[in-house]
Amino acid sequence: MAEVKQRVAKLRDLINYHNYRYYVLDSPEISDAEYDEFMRELKQLEEAHHELITPDSPTQRVGAAPVEAFGVVEHPQPLLSLANAFSDEELEAWYRRASNLLGSRKTDFVCELKIDGLAVALTYVNGLLEIGATRGDGLRGENITQNLRTVKSIPLSVPKEAPPRFEVRGEVYLPKVGFKKLNEERAKEGLPLFANPRNAAAGSVRQLDSRITAQRPLDIFVYGLGWAEGKAVPETHWEIMQYLKSLGFKINPNIALCRTIAEVKDYYEKWVENQEKLPYEVDGVVVKINSIPFQVELGFVGREPRWAIAYKFPAIQGTTRLLDIGINVGRTGSLNPYAILEPVQVGGVTIKHAALHNEEDIHRKDIRIGDWVVIQRAGEVIPEIVEPIVSRRTSKEKIFRMPRRCPVCKAEVIKPEGEAMHRCTNAACPAQALERIKHFVSRGAMDIEGVGEKMSQALFDAGLIKDVGDLYYLTRDKLLSLERMADKSVANILNSIERSKDRPLPRVIFALGIINIGEQTAELLAEHFASLDELAQAPREKLLEIPSIGPKIADSLVAFFRQEQNKNIIDKLRQAGVKLEAEKVETKELPLAGLEFVITGRLETFPRQEAEARVKALGGKAGSDVTRKTNYLVVGEDPGSKLARAQALGIKQLSETELLELLKQAERKP
Ligand code: NAD
Repeated sequence: MAEVKQRVAKLRDLINYHNYRYYVLDSPEISDAEYDEFMRELKQLEEAHHELITPDSPTQRVGAAPVEAFGVVEHPQPLLSLANAFSDEELEAWYRRASNLLGSRKTDFVCELKIDGLAVALTYVNGLLEIGATRGDGLRGENITQNLRTVKSIPLSVPKEAPPRFEVRGEVYLPKVGFKKLNEERAKEGLPLFANPRNAAAGSVRQLDSRITAQRPLDIFVYGLGWAEGKAVPETHWEIMQYLKSLGFKINPNIALCRTIAEVKDYYEKWVENQEKLPYEVDGVVVKINSIPFQVELGFVGREPRWAIAYKFPAIQGTTRLLDIGINVGRTGSLNPYAILEPVQVGGVTIKHAALHNEEDIHRKDIRIGDWVVIQRAGEVIPEIVEPIVSRRTSKEKIFRMPRRCPVCKAEVIKPEGEAMHRCTNAACPAQALERIKHFVSRGAMDIEGVGEKMSQALFDAGLIKDVGDLYYLTRDKLLSLERMADKSVANILNSIERSKDRPLPRVIFALGIINIGEQTAELLAEHFASLDELAQAPREKLLEIPSIGPKIADSLVAFFRQEQNKNIIDKLRQAGVKLEAEKVETKELPLAGLEFVITGRLETFPRQEAEARVKALGGKAGSDVTRKTNYLVVGEDPGSKLARAQALGIKQLSETELLELLKQAERKP
């Protein structure tokens, strides 16, 4: 017994502490699921030992005492919490208890989404909003009238037909988008982030300066009538909701009237499936007995009405330990950190790993190796770490640092300026090699016909090529060793590899897949350097002299050409006879010389790259952005913002057909 007493006291302390963090500071330290577990345990112990129940036990009171600074509002009728059900059995048990009290009288149910925001009570007197209050401890809440006035969907006045005095109750919430935006802004300003939309909504409404509240995109769903005086109101919850709607209150559209518990379960199942699609967070379904006289008769026990229950969705947050941080090297050489977690069940799924985005993000959230962390799973999205539980630190936790060498190939790791990701600089890094080969052979790059994604994969898997340089050393015998390879296709492949040796310099630069070097930049670089060797030897300062080459690109080039493995690849290309020098064409003589074309939208008859290549072959320039220098904007299907810009600058537009015509004419010229 002494042990039970001790545990009860411990649980109460814990719950009171977390209530304070949650309701007063709007900054919880543990997940809701974990909190619910503590509460459940306490309830079970109190159930088994009634003598231990005290009026101040968290099971008997809601929330936390109001913060005096707001001004305190006494609630004429207490604002209660809701009992929870986590399974069909618990839902049925709730229904059985209610039915026992109602005897043979039948009831129907109203099902509503349980909006994850904070409860408010709005009192209207003679048609005007007089008081807006938080729930507080259920009996006394905070006066936040000024702040609630800024929520546009809360009516400041109601029609004359409304009762002279009444109170509606509802949930003020922050839509998912608003929540994300708010946290992004806070991150930029270095402020602590809100754990979830509910705390964000609560933090927004409980502001001493209502100008701050006004900036937050808060909304409300009204879910009931607290009390009404001076006029009769409907006798069922369903009708009350329609009535409140007619008075101008915002009601959630997904409310349903269910005749049986089976229908209630269907409603629940439907929303377990579809909750992610809603633009706001919901954490369950609230089931209410429809008849108001029945509700009055059933009354409440402790802090929970007997006539309603919250059937919670399976938890999507959980807590566990961060055992280590692993690194995955991505296709472009990006080093992607991920969390290695002590396996934990979250919403019926075992979670072992979670996304960690990048080093900055890890430090912003102050996540340390060894920390207890809150993890979150949203639909099919990879689980992520919401935050560390700082109060559970033992001081043995370690701060994470990105490795300086690639964990796969040990090459140098760089973090290009202005980028969040660290990257491996070695093009021959096995983690990246295959993706680089696919890029090299692709159409816009070396355009090696017959060696597409699948063939690249097959050659790589068979160990016939390790990097792009090896492509030029493939022989008939080597290719024939691959499964299902006939003489003819081998000949074709060898032919197209041979042809690719003659690609213009910008294509070669682009094909190397240097980070941040797209087609346009490759083009620009080829205009300034006569050969790949010249480019490779160019110091950072020289690169920076080129207009539109910034530090990001310069650093990336320097790092690439410094890498031994990359030098080897280039040597292989050179020795195989791949042309690494610029062509000396006199573009001035060509028919489209001096004209710049920009393409927007999708072309129907030929790929954009081909259109651009033809423009360039005729001496024209293919730009990526509309500027004053642009001569023509080619407008394809679904044009982007470039169209508006071209219109604003008065730049001539061409349809795809007009472009084709123009190219044909130009190509005919001697
Ligand atoms: P609750 O949120 O489980 O349920 C009651 C509340 O539901 C009502 O006050 C109302 O605001 C809201 N609600 C939303 N839609 C509703 C609808 N359609 N009809 C009626 N009510 C609706 O209970 P609670 O007492 O507000 O909070 C307890 C919960 O808060 C816990 O289960 C836990 O999830 C969370 N909590 C977490 C921590 C933490 O540290 N992580 C601490 C305290 C509380």
